[in-house]
Amino acid sequence: MDYDVIIAGASFAGLAVAAQLRGKRVLLLDHKPIGTGQTSACGTPVSVLRALDLEAAILHVHHRLVVHTPGRDFVYPVTEPFCTFDYQRLCELLWQRSDAELVLAGALDVDGSTVRTSQGSFRGAAVVDATGWRAVLGSRLRPGMVRRERLNFGLETTVAYSGDGLHFWYDPRGLLAMGVTWAFPTGALARIGIGSYDGRTQLGPRLEHFLGQLGRQRNGLDGTYFPHALREPTVGDLFLVGDAAGQCLGLTGEGIRPALFFGTHLGHLLRQALDHSDHSVALSQARDAYRRLVAGYRPGYELLCLAQRALPRLPLRLVQAVMAAIEQPAVRRAVLARYIGSFPRGVPTVGHRYHPGIPADRRWEGRPRMSARDSATARPGVPAQPRLNAASESTATTIRDNRESA
Ligand SMILES: Cc1cc2nc3c(=O)[nH]c(=O)nc-3n(C[C@H](O)[C@H](O)[C@H](O)COP(=O)(O)OP(=O)(O)OC[C@H]3O[C@@H](n4cnc5c(N)ncnc54)[C@H](O)[C@@H]3O)c2cc1C
Repeated sequence: MDYDVIIAGASFAGLAVAAQLRGKRVLLLDHKPIGTGQTSACGTPVSVLRALDLEAAILHVHHRLVVHTPGRDFVYPVTEPFCTFDYQRLCELLWQRSDAELVLAGALDVDGSTVRTSQGSFRGAAVVDATGWRAVLGSRLRPGMVRRERLNFGLETTVAYSGDGLHFWYDPRGLLAMGVTWAFPTGALARIGIGSYDGRTQLGPRLEHFLGQLGRQRNGLDGTYFPHALREPTVGDLFLVGDAAGQCLGLTGEGIRPALFFGTHLGHLLRQALDHSDHSVALSQARDAYRRLVAGYRPGYELLCLAQRALPRLPLRLVQAVMAAIEQPAVRRAVLARYIGSFPRGVPTVGHRYHPGIPADRRWEGRPRMSARDSATARPGVPAQPRLNAASESTATTIRDNRESA
């Protein structure tokens, strides 16, 4: 085998897997250099980044969520703050924890342990698809696994904006019947976006209209789909993680927390399997354990998926009544605790009530930490300085971080 693990996709999910596999022979594949493919407003609970020692990427901490509806705004102070962060910085921090090799190439296909890419073929004992909503490898093995009716679509721009709190607008009659708009401040700027719950694209004119209401003009645009329903976490021998496995949450569109959470867990499972003398048996057990892990979260996913489907069908007055109820401190605390606490925190705390399917011998408590050796060699805060690796066995553009020689 060329590698122990091949990971296609080097964003949240793929990098979280790689970060757990230091010391193993890991190949990361992506079209783009690390940290250059942001497609997200990058809002997440502070606790997620704290748990993974990624706080250095935080740009702005927010202590309230604000929901604007026609005629009424709802302000929810949060005891557990959210933040907006610098995508590139976060990716670099994760990347520094791994000693993976990066090949700038598009993954095209997988056949057992062989991944065919735009830059040649590579063989790995385990293969992970972390290519986002397209699930490039998974959908080659199982055509039809990416279902358009299970995708949301989001479009965003970054503009000058001073404000505090994460703001959402729900205006089904005026702006978008099946979706929301948002403004996530990041200091002097904000990521302002619009997302459709029915996968509707062509949102540019609506975003322009919304920006006009805020007295802003768009400054570039980027957008993509994001799933709102779980898919299979393994297909044949292949592991899928993050949006590739449909792990983005419905209703809120929160996909970073699950991608980091499941990526960290999957990396940990793969490490355990690769430490075993019989890789093939251990990897098959890892697949089983990973499927059980994801299955344990299915009820939470289904609830949010249901809420997303129901929201546009409910009368606005009823939605406002629910939002008003959540303004009550006791209700607000309970709802937020349920939302934040009952779903992946970024800290692998396997074994709580959403894990009925996981046998005790497959659980581990606490988060997989970097080993003492890793902690000593990783250098958080120092941007990666990629260099060309002339010793590459393939014709690919191979980049290896200079951490090895540091
Ligand atoms: C407009 C918008 C705003 C959002 N805002 C938020 C937010 O504020 N908070 C939040 O939690 N979630 C947000 N989300 C959702 C979140 O961005 C995703 O759930 C998250 O990015 C999923 O991470 P991932 O690593 O699975 O996939 P991605 O981040 O999509 O990364 C996939 C990676 O795979 C690479 N890739 C793709 N195809 C190939 C290939 N063939 N070969 C090799 N590499 C490939 C890509 O270049 C990319 O680096 C938002 C989504 C959108 C669209």
